[in-house]
Amino acid sequence: SENASDDAEAVRDVFAMDTYMTVKAYGSNGDAAVDAAVDEINRLDALLSTGKKDSEIGQINANNGGQLSEDGAVLMERSLELYKSTNGAFDVAIYPVMKAWGFTDGNYQVPDADTLKATLELVDPSLIDYDKETSTVSFKKDGVQIDLGGIAKGYTSSRIMDIYKEKGVTSGLVNLGGNAQVFGTKPDDSLWRVAVQSPDSEDEYLGVLETKDKAIITSGGYERYFEKDGVTYHHIIDPSTGYPADNGLISVTIVSADGTLADGLSTSLFVMGKDKATDYWKAHSDEFDMILLTDDEKLYVSEGIKDSFTSDREFEIVEK
Ligand code: ADP
Repeated sequence: SENASDDAEAVRDVFAMDTYMTVKAYGSNGDAAVDAAVDEINRLDALLSTGKKDSEIGQINANNGGQLSEDGAVLMERSLELYKSTNGAFDVAIYPVMKAWGFTDGNYQVPDADTLKATLELVDPSLIDYDKETSTVSFKKDGVQIDLGGIAKGYTSSRIMDIYKEKGVTSGLVNLGGNAQVFGTKPDDSLWRVAVQSPDSEDEYLGVLETKDKAIITSGGYERYFEKDGVTYHHIIDPSTGYPADNGLISVTIVSADGTLADGLSTSLFVMGKDKATDYWKAHSDEFDMILLTDDEKLYVSEGIKDSFTSDREFEIVEK
């Protein structure tokens, strides 16, 4: 019957962008939709991964510039917009610093202050010439390199939502290593219940968000890090210092209909810290909601999701 095919679930798992991903879709076109979603993940991984020498970004970094594909151009534009709107917290030119810390190849090290200072001179989007007409970038200084790692996964999940729409599935989701985006409501028309990642353990979560048509993306220092002499160094860098951001937050979750924005802002607000993040939310509350977990284990939830978020922990509602 029609109902039976509407409820049919199609699921695929794929390892890409350094993480395990799951795509799921319901409806008669579900199989075709998840196959297309996996193809899209693999295509974008090959195109955008900074660490892959043959990728578009790898080539541009090796050649001091070059032409971007349609996807690359969108991400470059969004990155430059974010740089402006976040007052530099999101910096697409961060790659030289990621390399200095060894986050790009796993040869972790704490760079000395002089090296870091010299490297930071290269971390400056004003050294990137971007021509919108031709989608071409050129770097004004040797050593400038770009990194879409703070935004590529969210863009990928947005693209999968486009595919679900094109294929006419009734509902679906993508889970990219703890970052989720949901399409429509569940097959029974109820809201999706998305667990919000906890830094404490993979089996625990901060709470549950009931939602539809949204990306739920978390960034935290606990995701990728190394330890040296008893100190933990993680992979979200404060572009104003070159050191791992240490502004009082343990994690930031962003909820938005725009997956690319959600991914970029989870990194940015983590860099900003609670007060600046709150100000940023107040100025952009029509675009996203947020859940902040601070060093002193306090949980803050912006008012747009206060009724859809439930948690065993107490939380404070952030109001406009
Ligand atoms: P993950 O991709 O592991 O979920 P994030 O979304 O928080 O984590 O992105 C972290 C990645 O973003 C880093 O690995 C690096 O590639 C990039 N990055 C780190 N700091 C910044 C920054 N200040 N601005 C833009 N990108 C950053």
